[in-house]
Amino acid sequence: MARFVFVTGGVVSSLGKGLASAALGALLQARGYTVRLRKLDPYLNVDPGTMSPFEHGEVFVTDDGAETDLDLGHYERFTGVHARGTDSVSSGRIYSNVLEKERRGDYLGKTIQVIPHVTDEIKDFISIGDDETDFMLCEIGGTVGDIEGLPFFEAIRQFAQDRDRDECIFMHLTLLPYIAATGELKTKPTQHSVKELRAIGLQPDVLVCRSKMEIPEKERAKIALFCNVRPEAVIPAYDLASIYEAPLAYHEFGLDQAVLDAFRIAPAPTPKLDRWHDVKDRLDNAEGEVKVAIVGKYTTLEDAYKSIAEALTHGGMANRTRVNASWIDSEVFESEEPAAHLEGFHAILVPGGFGERGTEGMIRATRYAREKKVPYFGICLGMQMAVIEAARNLAGIAKAGSEEFDHEAGKKRFEPVVYHLKEWVQGNHVSRRKISDDKGGTMRLGAYTALLQEGSRVAEIYGNTTIEERHRHRYEIDTRFRDRLEETGLGFSGMSPDGRLPETVEIADHPWFVCVQFHPELKSKPFEPHPLFADFIRAAVETSRLV
Ligand code: GLN
Repeated sequence: MARFVFVTGGVVSSLGKGLASAALGALLQARGYTVRLRKLDPYLNVDPGTMSPFEHGEVFVTDDGAETDLDLGHYERFTGVHARGTDSVSSGRIYSNVLEKERRGDYLGKTIQVIPHVTDEIKDFISIGDDETDFMLCEIGGTVGDIEGLPFFEAIRQFAQDRDRDECIFMHLTLLPYIAATGELKTKPTQHSVKELRAIGLQPDVLVCRSKMEIPEKERAKIALFCNVRPEAVIPAYDLASIYEAPLAYHEFGLDQAVLDAFRIAPAPTPKLDRWHDVKDRLDNAEGEVKVAIVGKYTTLEDAYKSIAEALTHGGMANRTRVNASWIDSEVFESEEPAAHLEGFHAILVPGGFGERGTEGMIRATRYAREKKVPYFGICLGMQMAVIEAARNLAGIAKAGSEEFDHEAGKKRFEPVVYHLKEWVQGNHVSRRKISDDKGGTMRLGAYTALLQEGSRVAEIYGNTTIEERHRHRYEIDTRFRDRLEETGLGFSGMSPDGRLPETVEIADHPWFVCVQFHPELKSKPFEPHPLFADFIRAAVETSRLV
């Protein structure tokens, strides 16, 4: 049976609960334990799949094809444990399950209530796979006191009550605001937030206190006294130069020890932190810098491309160089020349996206990268844009475009070199979709195998001809145009095992022009940079040496 750490937050949102959970996961692993991390989100969307990236940041896709919260990306990047669909749940999903059961008559005519029906559903979710891991870390989204969050807080209270005494602990993140006028850190909001927790029956065992200033010993003791927590379990969390320093910083301040103490695990196994020392060394001792332009749609909120930003950093770490990423809204290229904005960059990346807005700008940026021989990495929509660009400007298909942008029935503006996929094979199973289907959860989602051509650049980079990567898209490159495109030099170097779906395209006669239909960024880790990102940055370093 697993031991459970429930992670909650108070005072304000965005304190880095996900990061603290992920870092704690990494530290428990360093002590030799197995971990799994889970996110419980109070919002009513059934999953984040249909939420705007502007509002919610990136949608993180798991191997088993679930569209989940971006915190699951942090969890994977810090622990290397592949998340599953059952590691992320929202109120929407919980309520939808409960209502489905009610309609089926599973509750045998009972009145359905938040307690016990909703809380039971949450508890069942929390326990999934609890016999497979030493520690299960469950993070509750939002802050204590939020109306939507209440059933989750009540459920974890009951959960801990149902289990043996030493099986569950509670870790709470708060903020100590700094008042410049008096030069003081204030503990009152933390006290109130813990009071709020205790009012619903939860006593934290560990408090993680975010603070801009060093927390004096006497303030730590005060927090401990007022919040009924042991002084060693009040853990400071200061701002860090890189999120990847978090495991070492939290270890230094005793987080993992406090957690093991709370579980009464003694003697605690000695931690092996070599992996994180190496990560820190690569960050601290990077030489030089490469400039990468990311030409996309959701550039005003960096979280919208969280995994891409992280994977680029990992690529930099693999090459011991810093990556200076600039986010450029592709729409600017619709009225202005790409050169004016893109000159001086050592590499260009066009990431994923949905809808037509900004795509003509991406196509122009792609053309610039192809013609000027600047390393180009097209991911998902970025690959579709590169194919359209080559179709229009090299293969003479002037109206090449994507079916995604042709909504109006009977009015076809484009020759669809990218078309809506309606049937495909996943393992031994055929998936079918209609254009009118619901938007939620109906894309080609999750891990699929791709076969790479022997001798191609991608095969060389992966060091393998069979790969497995995660997908999240509705449209595909049409192989009817394959011969015409290959004649122009755009090689279809990776295909689905049945040979129907192009997975990678590349231009051999170019310093680095690689496009992928999948999302490699989702699998990159600081201690194991994704080979495509590592090689892309290597190419950027080479370009930087030429100028
Ligand atoms: N909008 C495109 C599609 O659905 C690309 C999706 C993406 O980039 N993730 O196929």
